[in-house]
Amino acid sequence: MSSPFVFNRLALIGMGLIGSSIARAVRAQGAAKSIVATARSQATRRRVAELGLADQVVETNAAAVEGADLVILCMPVGACGAVAAEIGSHLAANATISDVGSVKGAVIREMSPHIPAGVHFVPAHPVAGTEHSGPDAGFAQLFVDRWCILTPAAGTDPAAVERLATFWRLLGANVEKMSAEHHDLVLGITSHLPHLIAYTIVGTADELSQVTRSEVLQFSAGGFRDFTRIAASDPTMWRDVFLANKDAVLEMLGRFQEDLAALTRAIRRGDGETLFNQFSRTRAIRRGIVDIGQDSPAPDFGRPHPDLPHEELPRPYLAES
Ligand code: NAP
Repeated sequence: MSSPFVFNRLALIGMGLIGSSIARAVRAQGAAKSIVATARSQATRRRVAELGLADQVVETNAAAVEGADLVILCMPVGACGAVAAEIGSHLAANATISDVGSVKGAVIREMSPHIPAGVHFVPAHPVAGTEHSGPDAGFAQLFVDRWCILTPAAGTDPAAVERLATFWRLLGANVEKMSAEHHDLVLGITSHLPHLIAYTIVGTADELSQVTRSEVLQFSAGGFRDFTRIAASDPTMWRDVFLANKDAVLEMLGRFQEDLAALTRAIRRGDGETLFNQFSRTRAIRRGIVDIGQDSPAPDFGRPHPDLPHEELPRPYLAES
């Protein structure tokens, strides 16, 4: 009788928000027969053991991957290359190795040289998260109705890709495949640039609040409160994201700065027509998407429209990409 589990032995390296959520979801869904986990610090390993998130908690990355048929790196993207170098020679033949990094091109460049022939490398990015970190922050429902984007290189064993897709679907995610380059452009505009704007605006307001602290806090229920939540995201993770996705972020930032300069000029000149036209255009884009039935008024975080086959789902809006 074939095993009901998608994987036999799952190794999770890094047990923060994402790693611990995978562990919880895998347990809840029976996606792997056993879980072995490790983290960089003794404190996190001890906490993972206390929470009972894995069948085994081991001291080293090399020990974690021994005999595993799925290995997932769940750490900041800047650390993935060094960890791949450490575990490469310990990976089991025919195993699948994956990651959860928010940037794909740089992670693939840094990990690939260390992955031996006969091991399947299927990079992944579950587009799901919160501003919290660490093993206590995770929860089993994190990936439900969220996208998980796979970016395998051309020539990757399709069976290995499909097996990882099945794994993520079991955790509740909807799976999309695209090239790493396309992923980094799309996420550059939909996630990385908004985070950069939030980090900037909260910093600007904080400097202002040296003078008007009480007002900034008192009236933060406006758009500002949402910015503070985004700007509370993990500093290490986001430092690595901007360093690793430099080209795409700079490209998007350049376009954004041009558009912002145009609006700045319109405000300075009292050019209400330009402001009104721009705001009407963006409102029409949103309404147009909703009106043609390609989306609900709620944003699409991973729920495919019931009337559309998966392949025909609207791509994230990205001008001239
Ligand atoms: P997190 O909660 O801060 O956890 C990171 C984990 O990685 C910790 O267990 C940490 O170990 C370990 N780690 C850190 N540096 C390491 C190193 N140099 N070598 C080995 N292990 C190291 O982070 P997270 O939010 O789970 O993010 C992990 C990955 O998921 C990142 O690549 C991020 O881009 C991606 N991601 C995050 C989100 C999100 O919203 N948070 C969403 C999608 C994808 P210690 O605890 O022992 O320090």
